[in-house]
Amino acid sequence: MNNPFISSKSNSILPQSLSGLDQIQAIRSTVSATNGPEIIKCPHTDKKPYAKGMCHNCYHKRGKSKMASACGHTTKPHYSNGLCQNCYLAQYYQKRKAKQQLKAQEQN
Ligand SMILES: [Zn+2]
Ligand SMILES: [Zn+2]
Repeated sequence: MNNPFISSKSNSILPQSLSGLDQIQAIRSTVSATNGPEIIKCPHTDKKPYAKGMCHNCYHKRGKSKMASACGHTTKPHYSNGLCQNCYLAQYYQKRKAKQQLKAQEQN
């Protein structure tokens, strides 16, 4: 099935006047330009760049100086919703589990 959104998007990137080779070069430069910054501020250069030249882990470790406040671990770095990373993930998995249990109950 044709996706009209994708085809109209690629048309806007590639002007009709370009020859085949120019089109390939245009695609390459577009891809490298939108590929985001490389990892330059942490040693994990093999990881996917996340933000500010760091991988996901280091960005959350160094990029935020705020401490967790909602979970009592005020010496741990804040991760999300006022929680430290441990508590946030624990809450996330608990919520997911509760959702799955609810679903299972609805089906029974
Ligand atoms: Zn890193
Ligand atoms: Zn915590």
